[in-house]
Formats: sequence, structure tokens, C-alpha cells
Amino acid sequence: MEPLLQIKELTAGFAADHGIVKAIDRISLAISKGQTLCLVGESGSGKSVTSLAIMRLLEFAGGRILEGSVRLSGDELTNQSQRQMIRIRGNRMAMIFQEPMSALNPVFTVGEQIAESIRLHQRKRKSEAKQMAVEMLRLVGIPDPETRAEQYPHELSGGMCQRVVIAIALACKPELLIADEPTTALDVTVQAQLLDLLQQLQRELGMTMLLITHDMGVAARMADQIAVMYAGAVVEIGTAEALFDHPAHPYTVGLMQSVPSMEGERLSELRTIRGHVPSLHALPAGCRFHPRCPLAMPRCSAEAPSMLAVGPQQQAACWLYDEDAHSSNRPDQESR
Ligand code: SF4
Ligand code: MG
Repeated sequence: MEPLLQIKELTAGFAADHGIVKAIDRISLAISKGQTLCLVGESGSGKSVTSLAIMRLLEFAGGRILEGSVRLSGDELTNQSQRQMIRIRGNRMAMIFQEPMSALNPVFTVGEQIAESIRLHQRKRKSEAKQMAVEMLRLVGIPDPETRAEQYPHELSGGMCQRVVIAIALACKPELLIADEPTTALDVTVQAQLLDLLQQLQRELGMTMLLITHDMGVAARMADQIAVMYAGAVVEIGTAEALFDHPAHPYTVGLMQSVPSMEGERLSELRTIRGHVPSLHALPAGCRFHPRCPLAMPRCSAEAPSMLAVGPQQQAACWLYDEDAHSSNRPDQESR
């Protein structure tokens, strides 16, 4: 069966003084219906650009898709007109962002905003849409939804506002929900409640989710699949189980070591990854991680690694897994 979302060799960038700067370079990933893929990586790794490119919103942020394919249930999105995309975005995919306040209009009540979104996608009378908006507020777990529907965004907490944003996104019954750091701006307790809510809604509505996060704890909680991005490229992809049990790419290993412990304290032997994410204007030759990689070999600065199989459900862009070359380079599980 074709994945609900299939991205192949997607490259996108922005015009700069001396030509195009690629913000993402040949990204490939797929999500099956009803599954969650978490896109993880530090800020500036290209996660948000990937999501904007999928939604075809990148054009409005001054960027553009240069190459590659994005298919939603088999339909190619990269060659749709923006007029067609408005329909697709309204009916088949929705996106929620980090900052709920900026997604809501301060001069309308939250009930009006949800009703408006419902009326955009379904032929409903005003009174009917208003009643549905109250039901949506109930669905996203807002107590006393009749009263809340009459309130303005500033009268609600950040967590409540993000629930409203989720309600607006779900009003079109999307096949695909893209959530870009949806809980980052909220405190830990509210964050946990919202992640639970997303999981519950996903089960109830059969939604497919692309969740963008820099937080490996969030990924551990939510992901079926994980794709790790570094400097505009996917460096490792696999099931959440495989990546947490035996991360393969040295960058993933570093990310895993920077996960806080369950008690919320930093791990005692926390080792942050030395160095910085490179500027997209000056990417290192060969493997883009080589200046920071503790396991770099001479080959790494000369040749860019392609995606190599690490296990049945895991691939990494790293020469350590090149079976054809120096097999002695392959580290065993313990030393990784
Ligand atoms: Fe490190 Fe080389 Fe693998 Fe890149 S290809 S992550 S530099 S070992
Ligand atoms: Mg981002």
C-alpha cells in the first residue's frame, strides 16, 4: 500500500546573493496511514523548511522547492497550483505551529474562529457551525465549552489556546496533521496533556502525523518512526524502537546522550555534541557532520555518504555502515 505521505529526494532553498542556498537537500521519507513520524534535530537543521515545503507554504516564506516529489495518498503536490493547494490544505492536510497566540485572531471569539474554519470546509449554516465549534472544543478537552466558545484568545491560557488551534486544524478532518514544535512554548504539565490529546485524537480520527521536535523525550513518547535531520539532510531514519535501542549515526548517538533523564534532571555524564551546526552557506565537504564527528575517517571529509542499511528498519547516512568498504570500521553495539 502506498504511504499516506511519501517524500522523495526533496530539495528546497532560498535565493541568496551568490545563488541558491539549499535549506534541505534530497530529503526522503514516508509515513503510513495512522502513523506518526517525528522529525528531530537541532534548530536550523531544516525541519520547519521540510514541513513548509510539504504544505507548499515555502513560497510564501521566500523559498521554493527545487527538486523532488511530495505525494499525499499518491497525489503529487509539487506541481499543483497554489489555487489547488488552498483546497488541499483546507481539506486534506493541516498544520499547527509552536506559538498558539500568533495563530489565533485576537478580535474574534474562539468559537467564531472554529466556526469560521468549519464553514470554510463544509457547507453549514452559521448556527450549525457554532454548535459544531462547541463540540470541537469539547473534543479537544476544553471544560465548559459553551462558555469558552464566547471568549477571546487573551482570556484563555497558552495551553487552552493551543487546544483551540488544534480544534481549528481538525475542523477540516485532515488526513495529515503537521505539528511543528506544538508544545514547546508550554509548560511541562500542559505539554504532556497536549501530547496525550494529540495521540487520542489520532486514534479516534485515524489521522497521520508528522511531528517536528527538537526534544527526544517528545519523540520517544509520540513516534512510530523517527527521521533525524542535520544541516538540511536526513542522516538517520528508522522505527522509534530501533533508533532508541541502537542509534547508528554518530549524530543520533549524540542527540540521545543529550536527553534529560525521566526525573527531569540532566544525565550526569551528559555529553553535548562538540562544535556547531554548520551554516548552510558553508557546508563542509563530504559528510556534513565530519567536523564534529568523533568517529570521522579520512574518507568522511571527501565523500558524502548515502543512506545505508543498518538493520531491517533502520538506515543511516554514514560510512561506518558501508559493508563494501572497511568492514572493520563497523563498531559493535557496545562501543557505539
Ligand atoms: Fe562520522 Fe564519517 Fe559517519 Fe560522517 S560518515 S557520521 S564523519 S563516521
Ligand atoms: Mg523550526
